[in-house]
Amino acid sequence: MTTATNLKHYPMWIGGKPVDTKETRDIINPSDESVAATVAMGNAADIDAAVQVARETFQSGVWARKTPRERAAIMRRIAAAANDSVEDLIEAEMSANGATVRQATGFHVGYALLHFEYFADLAETYQWKRPTQMSSFPTLGQSVVHREPIGVIGAIAPWNFPLLLTLWKVGPALAAGNSVVVKPDEHTPLSILEFARIAEENGLPAGVLNVVPGEGRDAGARLASHPDVGKIAFTGSTQVGREIMMAASDTIKKITLELGGKGPTIVLDDADLDLAVDGVLYGCFVFSGQVCESGTRALVPESLHDEFVNRLVERAKAIVLGDPSDWDTDMGPVINGKQRDRIVEYIRGAEADGATVVTGGVQATGPGFERGFWIEPTIISGVRNDMRIAQEEVFGPVLSVIAYQDDEDAIRIANDSEFGLAASVWSRDNERALMLAERLQVGSVWINDAHQIDCQLPFGGYKQSGLGRELGPDALDEYTEAKTVRLDLSGGRESKPYDLLLSHAPK
Ligand code: NAD
Repeated sequence: MTTATNLKHYPMWIGGKPVDTKETRDIINPSDESVAATVAMGNAADIDAAVQVARETFQSGVWARKTPRERAAIMRRIAAAANDSVEDLIEAEMSANGATVRQATGFHVGYALLHFEYFADLAETYQWKRPTQMSSFPTLGQSVVHREPIGVIGAIAPWNFPLLLTLWKVGPALAAGNSVVVKPDEHTPLSILEFARIAEENGLPAGVLNVVPGEGRDAGARLASHPDVGKIAFTGSTQVGREIMMAASDTIKKITLELGGKGPTIVLDDADLDLAVDGVLYGCFVFSGQVCESGTRALVPESLHDEFVNRLVERAKAIVLGDPSDWDTDMGPVINGKQRDRIVEYIRGAEADGATVVTGGVQATGPGFERGFWIEPTIISGVRNDMRIAQEEVFGPVLSVIAYQDDEDAIRIANDSEFGLAASVWSRDNERALMLAERLQVGSVWINDAHQIDCQLPFGGYKQSGLGRELGPDALDEYTEAKTVRLDLSGGRESKPYDLLLSHAPK
């Protein structure tokens, strides 16, 4: 723990106020290893306290029994206030996870607030009460399916898009009237702590949104197994996703899991190669490749392989790696030293398996890179899909190029993965690309594009990339219970199949 006194310190946020802990953690800026802030580290007991507050707040009805329109109005006010503090949020985000200023402004914070507003709108357009016709019992009556809040939602988030991926959970949870306990990643809790304070200053009742930074195995595990938590919304690695599923099973919690990926980008032989080259680079290297749905496997026709690799290398050399706060910088550092070493190990492993590093492949050195965690944009050619580099998630700026024979072969390779989050297809022939999209076992397919996540469209994974969907018009289904209410309008007089039980009773 650092002792500097001019550093900003972030306590936990529980019950509408800052709450401190004995244990604190230094938040390290990945670009220069400086201490950006200190943060309180909550443990299982702090999670218990936060869940209790969230539960009492939920039961009080102070948020849950507001009308959807009232909740939407407060959420919009929060989004507007957060937009007024956008510089602070960007700083909080960048200083903890190393995003470039362009990336943090547009995606990390810009999208996060835009998507939060989308959930405010959804609170108003969502069908909270759905009248339905009964088909099996044609009696005089009315059936209505009510969508009701679940109670306390536990949200566990990763470090790569700390605010965005947390608000994908907090947004629908609040829109539906739930209370929330967030367990941010231990490296990146700053932006959501800022957001929780802003939310409460702008009308969110105390205790509705609570944030407990802490270690996954302690605070996170307790949240995932807490008996008073009705649902866990998790984004992170597939391995931890499995553990969350097990922890949630004791009390049969609802869960949504957004997990890892190993995205294929299929370049068809009729693609515009200039566009495809830039698309492949954008699909893989944005935010130093630390995006779950990145296209990390480029599938290229064997006949075009060498030419395509040469073009990729030429264009990749123009990517400016460096100081994330400089608006000219294209790519920043990776999150920490452990992750940097892991990425290098994957690259060396690919070489040992017979693949060739054609550019990058090492930690960046020289002026500007003395401190921090830097990996040059790395392209590996001659990769076979059964190699470890093609099967496991590296989560760094590493692109594997794999040659294929024909469309069938491309589909086979693309689907030969335990993951199924997203894929891209590059082609001039829309019909051919759409046919291919139908055969890909992934939650999103982008044709002649990459990273096209839209808050109005469901996002999530096939296979071991996840469970359930975030975003889109049905997102609130994941944060509500369905209750069917049947009202007999005949005053009980209309004939009913009671003879099944009372056939011998006097009429
Ligand atoms: P991680 O799984 O290590 O950690 C994610 C969160 O889980 C952190 O808050 C961590 O503290 C917590 N955690 C760890 N162990 C836990 C446990 N036993 N119980 C409860 N919580 C626990 O993932 P990461 O390294 O932070 O993030 C990278 C991973 O996230 C990658 O695999 C990436 O693909 C995935 N990801 C997926 C999506 C998506 O939408 N599918 C988006 C972003 C990241």
